[in-house]
Formats: sequence, C-alpha cells, structure tokens
Amino acid sequence: MSVDDSKEKIGHKQEPVSIDSSEIKSLKQLIDIVSGKDVTHYDFQHDSGLAEPLFFPFLAIVGQFEMKLALILTIINPNIGGVLLIGPRGTAKTTSVRGLIDILPFVENSTCPYGCLPEDIETNGHDAICPDCAQKIEQNIPLSEISKVRIIELPLNSTLDSVIGILDMDHPIGSGKHLKRGILSLADKNILYIDEVNLLPDEIINSILDASAMGKYSIRKGSDSATFRSRFTLIGSMNPEEGNLRPQIMDRFGLRVVTSGLDKDTDRLAAYSRASQYLNNPYEFIKIYQEENALARQEIERAKKFVWKVKLDPKIANIGIELIKDLNIHSLRAELTLFEAAKALAASENREYITEEDIITIAPMALRLRRSAYISEFIEKNNAENLEINTSLGKLIK
Ligand SMILES: [Zn+2]
Repeated sequence: MSVDDSKEKIGHKQEPVSIDSSEIKSLKQLIDIVSGKDVTHYDFQHDSGLAEPLFFPFLAIVGQFEMKLALILTIINPNIGGVLLIGPRGTAKTTSVRGLIDILPFVENSTCPYGCLPEDIETNGHDAICPDCAQKIEQNIPLSEISKVRIIELPLNSTLDSVIGILDMDHPIGSGKHLKRGILSLADKNILYIDEVNLLPDEIINSILDASAMGKYSIRKGSDSATFRSRFTLIGSMNPEEGNLRPQIMDRFGLRVVTSGLDKDTDRLAAYSRASQYLNNPYEFIKIYQEENALARQEIERAKKFVWKVKLDPKIANIGIELIKDLNIHSLRAELTLFEAAKALAASENREYITEEDIITIAPMALRLRRSAYISEFIEKNNAENLEINTSLGKLIK
C-alpha cells in the first residue's frame, strides 16, 4: 500500500477503513497514513459519560510529523537523550506527549519502593537488593511485573523533596514510612515529562538532569542514605515567549523539535474537526484509532528489541561528523543524538544499517540550537592567543 493509495481509499465516505497491517512497511509510513485518515464519516454526538481522563490519540494529531517521529524514536532508543519540544501554545506539544499512552510498549517495572530488580542480583549479588526483596526471593515472589511504560508528569509546583524523595527520620527503617520515594525514582524505565521546563527552578532541573545522566541518584540524611535508579526518558516542552532555557540545560536534551501552527487550510480544518469530535465523545473517538494504536505499539516493541543490532558504517559516520564540524558544534552530544536517533529510525524500518537518508531526516532535529556564537568566538580568540605565545617563544628559543 502506498501512502497516496491509502489517502484515496480513506477519503471514501461510506465505510470506516481499517488498515492492512501486513502492508505497513514502517512506523514512518503508519504515522503518515493515519495522520491523513478521514474520520469525518464517524458521527457521534453523545457524551460517553466517562469521568476518567481519555487523552487525544497520538496518531490522530494532524501534521507535526517531526514531533511525532522524534517522540517515537526516543521511546525506541532511550540513548538518544530525550526530546525537547519548543513552540508557541496550541501546537499540540502536551497533547502529543499525553497521547503516547496508547502506543507505549511494555517493560519490566519493580514493585518495590527501592526499585529492586532481578537484574541487581545478577550483577551485584543478594546484597544489592533490600531486605524485603531478599525475603520475597526466598518465598519465590517476583520482584517485578511487566507493565506498560508510564508517563510521569512533573507537577508545575514540584518541590525538591517531592522530586528526589525524602528519608523521614521520625519513622524507623522498615516501618514503610521511613522512605518517601520521589518522582525521579518513580519514573525509572518510564517517561518523565516536564511541561514549561524553562520555568523550573535551577535546583530541580539540575537534580533531574544529573539523575538522568547517571541513571541513578542518592539521597542522604545524617548517616542514613538511599540510592535509587532513574533511567527515564526525558521529554520537555517550552514556549520560548516565556523565557529561555540555559545553554547547559539545552545541551542535555537529545532531539529538539520546533513546533508551529499548521500551514495548510485543509490541515487546520481537519485538526479542528478532530478536536471537536474528540470533545463530543472522547471514548468513541479513541476507538477509531484502536487498531492503528495496537499496530504502532507492536512495531515500537519490535524496533526496541532490534535497535542494538543496527550498525553505523564508517562512511556514514564520517558524513555526520563532518556536518557537525562544519556547523561548528562542539558538544559530543551532537554525535550521540544524531547516530543513536538514526539507529532508532533504521530499527523502525527493520534495517540493520544506517543510510544517508536517515542522517538527512535526523540532522535538523539532532543539531539545531546547538551552536553558540559566544563559544566559537571564545575558541577562535584562544587559538589566536596560543599562536601569539608560540610565535614569541619561537623568537626567544631557537
Ligand atoms: Zn526492594
């Protein structure tokens, strides 16, 4: 099935069209086809009466292809280093992140407040797990469960204690009240979403970025301490009208997507119609996308297992490195994001190798907003000064 064929078919207004999963070649193609799906023939006026939050389906978002691709790639390969979405209000940033819920894969999540996992015993022996979990092992009770990747949203008014957790000395160890787990450890192996990341106090954003970079963090009170895992995928969003993000924080985000309003009149109308249908009856609207959601989740799970097999050919690597040097980007995170995201893209298309086309698709997302005029000038001045020092030395020491 080609993209154009599918648009013609789904433009037909009689029957709801289902997508033939065997003919979908890649996630990219699936996003494209579902984004163009005509849902105007679905007619539902009544409220479903459900109280729980039902998020607008990710695949139903019109356009915003780069944002959708970046979010999917970072789920496939967490080594990308997360995504930062930058744009004005009303450009589907938060809607996209929340909508991911329907297509997220399943992972092994710890059931213990300390985050103990069977892998700890494999790497560090029985001392690496807490006494409660050691007892569970003796009784053959599993330490983890397989559950869907969760999206943990950082509340706007978060305090440092709520983010990293606290050791409460008023309650003894083992009482179940001694340790209050923070948002960071709850996000282990899951997604941490920070809306308005540019408005977060420095101490909180620094602790989040450190924990994210190390994959673990410790809290201490007196002689007591606890260490938690924090291997989460970080997604941030910000409206540049409301303040900048410091360069050192910006550097830590892998992919950068700049969102803007839809250009085409037809796209704007489609986006309005879908939003209106969703508001009328979210439950029925979500049902339209169930089949494609299942297909996308299956493809993401497959690509996640496959991504480590993808190889980077030295010739392709060279194109990326030359491009980064040519753009005067100094941070090594540029290469890391570019190549890891290209691997995820290749895995999503079931390829074990990265192509030039992958580099072309990923480069803008991985490399934008990484240049600094100040740093370039600073390094240029330093090189000129080094030259002067060596010239003077050369005159004196022959
Ligand atoms: Zn434990």
